[in-house]
Amino acid sequence: MPHPVVVAIDGPAGAGKSTIARRVAARLGFVYIDSGAMYRAVALWAVRENMDLEDAARLERVADTARIEFAPGGSTVFLDGEDVSEAIRTPGVSQAASIVSAIPGVRRALVEQQRRMGATESVVMEGRDIGSVVFPNADVKVFLDADPAARTQRRALELEAKGEPVSSEEVARELAERDRRDSTRAAAPLVEAPGAIRVDTTRLSIEEVEQVILELIAQRVSTAR
Ligand code: C5P
Repeated sequence: MPHPVVVAIDGPAGAGKSTIARRVAARLGFVYIDSGAMYRAVALWAVRENMDLEDAARLERVADTARIEFAPGGSTVFLDGEDVSEAIRTPGVSQAASIVSAIPGVRRALVEQQRRMGATESVVMEGRDIGSVVFPNADVKVFLDADPAARTQRRALELEAKGEPVSSEEVARELAERDRRDSTRAAAPLVEAPGAIRVDTTRLSIEEVEQVILELIAQRVSTAR
């Protein structure tokens, strides 16, 4: 049996990771895993319990005990059996996720779960540290990026489509704040992992980005076997 294939897709918010990772996984029949949803689930728990988001010991316990599961397809997320797919996507939870994800104990707990998920099945996993920390030996590593203006516009359209319009200025501020926090934290900051291929999605369509990545996977995986 060939070993399961790991495709790691990292990058800042709004670069197109989720859309692309989901499509690539569906095309290849791999499992799609949104690691950000796991940090968001821990953050949601903390917000609901009104916890201090800097309480490292308590948040580590939450990350260790929370049962975070994905339905097949990867878009539906359960926290202790409750469908929290919508609840984890609010701007408040986005900010809280970027705060709790800086806690090393929270990362340790979730990274362990992520490694287990990629150990038995071929996966496309997206996040901030998949190619650098979770799977440094991933078969394919992609760093997706786009201009801040393009990322802001995509995120604003997404929120509008959900019936939660937010001004572009506010979205830009929110993204810049998360980028700063995610890139400057001590634990597993957002970096281009060694060996990652950088794809700038600013001027590419979803189909074009998908094609670039599928070709990369075809090259890498056939040479590896
Ligand atoms: O990818 P998404 O924007 O949903 O992630 C939410 C937050 O979770 C990010 O801003 C980041 O702080 C954190 N995260 C992380 N490591 C990952 C995935 C997400 O620190 N692998």
